[in-house]
Amino acid sequence: MSNFLIKKKSSIHGIGIFTEKDITKDTIFYEFPIELISNEPKARWAHIGKNKWVSDENVLNYINHSCDSNSKLDISDLPKLIAKRDIKSGEEISVDYNETEKNGKKVPCNCKTKKCRKYFLRIE
Ligand SMILES: [Zn+2]
Repeated sequence: MSNFLIKKKSSIHGIGIFTEKDITKDTIFYEFPIELISNEPKARWAHIGKNKWVSDENVLNYINHSCDSNSKLDISDLPKLIAKRDIKSGEEISVDYNETEKNGKKVPCNCKTKKCRKYFLRIE
């Protein structure tokens, strides 16, 4: 299901996740095979609920934050990625960390979008 999602050097931060095919708005394009769940925050793990963090070395851990993200991390059931708009082949996949890391620390943002809020939240 994720063979079109690849890791590449990102202009936002370090390594990011990029799509090699077009993704249509509102499509669920990735569901997480949950490798590990932790009750404590760890660097790069995603916060998916009260005292619950998950790790996915294939995709999730490498998705960068953007204040104008093209995707949403849906954590209502099994964590999955949903396209917030049409995403073109070659684009970096981004999510808005503020939607899931509400109690995090302020970290300077480098997303370079017009809607940039200068900081985003991350629990670590
Ligand atoms: Zn930003």
